[in-house]
Amino acid sequence: TDITSLLLSRIRDVADYPEPGVMFKDITPLLADPAAFSALTDALAAVAASTGATKVVGLEARGFILGAPVAIRAGLGFIPVRKAGKLPGATLSQAYDLEYGSAEIEVHAEDLSADDRILIVDDVLATGGTAEASIELIRRAGAEVAGLAVLMELGFLGGRARLEPALAGAPLESLLKV
Ligand code: IMP
Repeated sequence: TDITSLLLSRIRDVADYPEPGVMFKDITPLLADPAAFSALTDALAAVAASTGATKVVGLEARGFILGAPVAIRAGLGFIPVRKAGKLPGATLSQAYDLEYGSAEIEVHAEDLSADDRILIVDDVLATGGTAEASIELIRRAGAEVAGLAVLMELGFLGGRARLEPALAGAPLESLLKV
């Protein structure tokens, strides 16, 4: 469709970044194009509406850039899920494994309640490790996961299959699949 080709045309492939053998999807050309950024925001806000989300969670850092305008457009609040050590208030943390080593993400505990249905927003779904940890974190904070929405899904990395148990029937919407 039109929006698919518009979005795709504004994503740059960068070979061997951040390490040899990786083809990095760079969304900065899309962010710099107001028509494309606005169309992306509309599409993700439509997902927020269709899932009945009450709040939008963005995953640091590109999930902040995409998630914040989506929250505004959908008329919802925005909650940052940050890398460990960045939030000043009382937090819940979730550790997860990376290819080499591990990482930890956090959210302000007071930002999520049992009444909330959360749409998680990020730019790229790769192995699904980051999204899986965020789903776990949101559930542990007592909220419900309404769905996960990403600009692009790297299908060959198997993130969708990995997330199936964690999503427990909640939708995974990717606007572009490679
Ligand atoms: P995963 O945890 O392996 O699914 O990796 C997803 C996280 O890494 C997301 O927060 C993405 O922003 C980032 N990421 C992985 N690959 C890419 C890429 O090719 N372009 C941009 N971000 C990426």
